[in-house]
Amino acid sequence: MTSKALGLDDSLQRYVLDVSLRETAVQRALREESDRHERAQMRTAADQAQFIALLLKLIDARRVLEIGTFTGYGSLTMAQALPADGHVITCDLNDEWTKTARKYWQQADVFHRIELRLGPALDTLDALLAAGESGRFDFAYIDADKTNMRTYYERCLKLVRAQGLIAIDNVLWGGSVINKADNDENTIAIRDFNASLHNDQRVDISLLPIGDGLTITRIR
Ligand code: CA
Repeated sequence: MTSKALGLDDSLQRYVLDVSLRETAVQRALREESDRHERAQMRTAADQAQFIALLLKLIDARRVLEIGTFTGYGSLTMAQALPADGHVITCDLNDEWTKTARKYWQQADVFHRIELRLGPALDTLDALLAAGESGRFDFAYIDADKTNMRTYYERCLKLVRAQGLIAIDNVLWGGSVINKADNDENTIAIRDFNASLHNDQRVDISLLPIGDGLTITRIR
């Protein structure tokens, strides 16, 4: 045994999915359509989405905020995990991508639980704050443009209730966070965000090497 996380090659990753992934037919169809998309790498990994769905059940989440809809696999998975009166507000800029999302949300009969807000996510988050929604969300999932990661996180700290969770995706960025020669603005933003979170006493944290790296924070 080792104290280091086990690196998964393709066949071990396949095994993980074979013995644990529980997708509905609609989730699977959406995943397959998303994987044919030119920006397919933006889809949330299926095992990661299932883990998030489990977190929602663990905290009895009803109101969820998602920043970065893409083709809607994450929002579909989260909406399916919520109780009948559950609600997901999801933010994206791209009408084309979210058309795919809406089609599958309808097929899965969770369309009524998902509210898509098209436009800059910061505007949506500020509008929610202005509308008195502080502390009214149980969970937030941040998976959008990386240079705004920290700003999204700060807004979510206000919008999510105490003891609620904020999950942040792509915190390992394909491993490039440790490549000192990589000074791309996204890489720098993620590296800076990870470093600042380490000492952020407002939250409890755990960085999981699942998907492209997922940090879970729990608001104290
Ligand atoms: Ca992502």
